[in-house]
Amino acid sequence: MKEATRLARAENQIVGLIPTMGALHDGHLSLIRRAKSECSKVFASIFVNPTQFGPKEDFARYPRTLEADVEKLTAAGVDAVFVPDAAEIYPANYRTYVNVDSLSDRLEGRTRPGHFRGVATVVLKLFQIIQPHFAYFGRKDAQQVRIIEQMTRDLNLDVEVVVCPIVRESDGLALSSCNAYLNPRERAAATALHRALAQAQAAICNGTRDALQLQTILREAIAHEPLCSLDYAEIVDAETFEPVVRIARPCYLLLAVFLGRTRLIDNMLVTSSASDRDELLTLL
Ligand code: AMP
Repeated sequence: MKEATRLARAENQIVGLIPTMGALHDGHLSLIRRAKSECSKVFASIFVNPTQFGPKEDFARYPRTLEADVEKLTAAGVDAVFVPDAAEIYPANYRTYVNVDSLSDRLEGRTRPGHFRGVATVVLKLFQIIQPHFAYFGRKDAQQVRIIEQMTRDLNLDVEVVVCPIVRESDGLALSSCNAYLNPRERAAATALHRALAQAQAAICNGTRDALQLQTILREAIAHEPLCSLDYAEIVDAETFEPVVRIARPCYLLLAVFLGRTRLIDNMLVTSSASDRDELLTLL
């Protein structure tokens, strides 16, 4: 992989990287398409990273569909796929981990202690091995990409992090490899996440700015669906991921919901698109 990337750079190619854990769906492929439109060499990685799974999370159960994944990546025009073994990434006596302070402890990090330490470490390693000019991540994992941006800035990495929009099913469910775990009743109930966000969006469009009110809308919409059990519904500043009292600056509405054993996350970004920040809000 290092040789391939050295060659590409020697030829003045623009290298794009899309890190994934496989079980590829159209959300992943949207990142590939974006990279293809901006880079002359596009590399993807498939690595189910053991260090980002907690002891109670099922690393062994994570879907692995390598053959189908490689077919999809080939059809999408990816130049190479990096599929390392866990022992190559974390050889015996591996000792070094990256921790992005404070951003990593809350929300996803509180429910999943150590998760972002594993993510930041493997992404830094992938950046070091593949040396991309651009790396593509989905806004689906909003806190993750914020942490990667922070790490890239803090460690002076020569990588531009590109954040891409969430790809959804026609009924609004955000595409996720974890959707494969849902039984048909849970799959039907899973649309509650997007419905909750849409209701909060409607309230924002009608002038609601109070975070507590918006949180109540999210909570009630999830409570309405008996198969859903809420982990968190938060309104946070898009930069710090600290809870806000009122929507004034760019914010995320964040949801994490259990359906049986499966945990799904979704979010909506609220940004100001004009100088009059409080008046003109764009919802992404
Ligand atoms: P994963 O394989 O789950 O680690 O995801 C690899 C990349 O794909 C991450 O940057 C995710 O944020 C992104 N991704 C996953 N699902 C979606 C989606 N529905 N829309 C856009 N990006 C996504």
